[in-house]
Amino acid sequence: MAEAEKTAAEAPLDFIRAIVSEEVKAGKNGGRVMTRFPPEPNGYLHIGHAKAICLDFGIASEFGGVCNLRMDDTNPTKETYEYVNAIIEDVKWLGFDPEERIYFASDYFERMYECAEELIRRGKAYVCDISPEEWEKYKGNLREPGKESPNRNRSVEENLDLFRRMRAGEFADGAMVLRAKIDMASPNINLRDPVIYRIRRAHHFRHGDKWCIYPLYDFAHPLEDAFEGVTHSLCTLEFEIHRPFYDWLLEALDYPHRPRQIEFSRLNLNYTVMSKRKLLQLVKEHHVSGWDDPRMPTISGLRRRGVPAAAVRNFIKGVGITKFDGVTDMARLEYSIREELNATAPRFLAVLDPLPVEIVNFPETGVPPLDAVNNPEDPEAGSRKLDFGRELYIDRNDFMVDPPKGYFRLAPGREVRLRYGYYIKCESYETDAAGNVTKVLCTFDPETRGGNSPDGRKVKGTIHWLNARTAVPAEMRLYDRLFTAEFPGADGEDFLTQLNPDSVKTAQGFVEPSAAALPAGSVMQFERTGYFAVDPDSQSDRPVFNRTVSLKDSWSKKN
Ligand code: ATP
Ligand code: MG
Repeated sequence: MAEAEKTAAEAPLDFIRAIVSEEVKAGKNGGRVMTRFPPEPNGYLHIGHAKAICLDFGIASEFGGVCNLRMDDTNPTKETYEYVNAIIEDVKWLGFDPEERIYFASDYFERMYECAEELIRRGKAYVCDISPEEWEKYKGNLREPGKESPNRNRSVEENLDLFRRMRAGEFADGAMVLRAKIDMASPNINLRDPVIYRIRRAHHFRHGDKWCIYPLYDFAHPLEDAFEGVTHSLCTLEFEIHRPFYDWLLEALDYPHRPRQIEFSRLNLNYTVMSKRKLLQLVKEHHVSGWDDPRMPTISGLRRRGVPAAAVRNFIKGVGITKFDGVTDMARLEYSIREELNATAPRFLAVLDPLPVEIVNFPETGVPPLDAVNNPEDPEAGSRKLDFGRELYIDRNDFMVDPPKGYFRLAPGREVRLRYGYYIKCESYETDAAGNVTKVLCTFDPETRGGNSPDGRKVKGTIHWLNARTAVPAEMRLYDRLFTAEFPGADGEDFLTQLNPDSVKTAQGFVEPSAAALPAGSVMQFERTGYFAVDPDSQSDRPVFNRTVSLKDSWSKKN
């Protein structure tokens, strides 16, 4: 066994994998494993969902099982096909393929309805039409038990009749509901005769106006799992107190093979929001350019920003699966992104804030093109040619008229190395009327081709550069955290007031022609500057680059 495989095999399993592993060994469910990822198509997926996706699809494949992608579309008012399609695309992009196992919970409405009638027949559900004031009186609270509704003892016949008439549209929205008949005195409020169907005249994106009654999530979800034959229903901690009802329902209906619900903690990240309601608000009110704005924590936003799927998966793996709620630092995600891109991204030269340089001794006959390494981490990536010339650009912050101690880049009288090129020495510079440097005049030493001097003369700085004749003008979009507050919306603050006004800055710079030619979605390193991805807004003569991440940790508390 290879060393890496051995380590992976010996790594301790998280508590969910340990449970699944034991059950498989014990032959439970005939050794079969089936999970599901059940997003509600009422928004785009975010990085929190990626945790659930990696867990659900990951466990299925590790144990030789399958994972269903199920649209949990039982709440008709906010769901659309736009979201359905985006969810499928994002799950696939993350590296998981549901193949033909894409299901819609709403396609089970008829079966769910039959289950509700069956509960009524078994004396385990009743139609309740008490007024909202009475609801308040009867429901009890965390310390006091609730009281039974006067409707609780309706006959099976009367309940069936009323429920059928609910379905037929005889009653107004909200006039009555179907409730499970469990225990009004239960300390768990979810077991105090919870509502399982309500009347709601709403158009469903998939079934139109076929239904005017809709099942509630707590009723629908265990049935969806049971209908599909799911063995492990993995969900986040807030569902823990719903588990008794999940189990009660499948027992009340005598389901022979019952899926097991197991809860794990959500992924929380600082300096962002992950509630779909808030993300939708950011989009609808144009605080961002869309669901895929590169500042969004959505999967589509991360993709547009240039984050590789492997970096997301590695990040999720590193966070791990536990029962404890916590906050993961955004720096950790950035670390995974850098790790992945350092190994895979080709290198190019780009200048974000151009300062012209003239090589005053550049020969009329020119010099042969220089060799530049495409990726020092990947010998297979090869090399490319760079044209040196008389007119160059360097980044403005690589030159200082009056440099402080410790500044090793270009300054009057100083010599630096141009990456993959020659030593150049600043002989003089020009300024405008306001004293801003407009051009730096340098000599180059032809003997230092490739970056070393035959006389052993050392330079302390190496800077990047471009040939001004061939460089392609480009827009660089530089992103920072979307919010200034670590926990936007905490302590009663309006999260919108905590948006970072400088979350995106644009620079008009230049790139090598070979970087400008890459298609949208390509990710690369601009040497000494950061990782960048070609944005879909790019034009061939005017490429647009999103900064995926800077080269060093910019989230550190020290900044
Ligand atoms: P909302 O923001 O409206 O509460 P949601 O995030 O729960 O919605 P769903 O579409 O219901 O959205 O989520 C689908 C699945 O993804 C659920 O099983 C849920 O537990 C899981 N999930 C959602 N957010 C996270 C998160 N931050 N970390 C881990 N899993 C998550
Ligand atoms: Mg949810």
